Amino acid sequence: MPITAAQENIRSLVEKLNFAEKVERSLELIERAYDQYSDRLVVADSLGKDSSVVWDLAQRVSPDIHGFIVTTRFKPEETKRFMREKVRMYPGKLEVYESTAEIPDELYETDPDRCCDILKVDPTRRAIREMNAACWVTGLRCTEGRTRTDFQEVEERDEGLIKLNPILTWYEREVWQYLALYDVPVNPHYKLGYRSLGCAPCTTISSGSDERAGRWTGTSKCGGECGIHTRPLTQD
Ligand code: SF4
Repeated sequence: MPITAAQENIRSLVEKLNFAEKVERSLELIERAYDQYSDRLVVADSLGKDSSVVWDLAQRVSPDIHGFIVTTRFKPEETKRFMREKVRMYPGKLEVYESTAEIPDELYETDPDRCCDILKVDPTRRAIREMNAACWVTGLRCTEGRTRTDFQEVEERDEGLIKLNPILTWYEREVWQYLALYDVPVNPHYKLGYRSLGCAPCTTISSGSDERAGRWTGTSKCGGECGIHTRPLTQD
């Protein structure tokens, strides 16, 4: 069965499946997609906890799977250090994409959508194009916050480009459970109390039910999206 045929009631899976079943399901989704797309399957790594899980799962499926990291000039120093270590740990397997475009000072304050478009969405488009991806794999989870409830494990938001969200059904607790049980390195910036990591000027430490509440606080984008999951990716 082609991977695109797998559509399920996600909400019921979130509650019905236990941790071990979710791990098995995620591995199977990646395995099936890798069987179908081979080296045209690429993993997107945001350097956050969810990406660390997905990258580890993908490497368990096949150490030949490649990925890309989109970073920006505004990532916290600790995140940049973690990125360099990870790239060193997987020689030749993780490509780093970063925009060098000139932007107005503090664009993140005056127009965060535009800033994210230039610094995050554009490099993601470039990664997908240059790596000739037919299927990109993300760490998106439907319990992360209000903007993430309406996704499927397998999607085709851009024609000809499959997006695989293999840990869509996982709770935040299960992400940390996996990282601890499988001894997966994770961005040490979480030690400060962050629950969702992004660029330094746009990320605060938050608590409460919305995991992404600390993103873009004080703007209309609060708890929202940078655009890589919502904007077209196969056009400039
Ligand atoms: S998260 Fe903030 S600094 Fe980073 S690209 Fe988006 S608006 Fe710019």
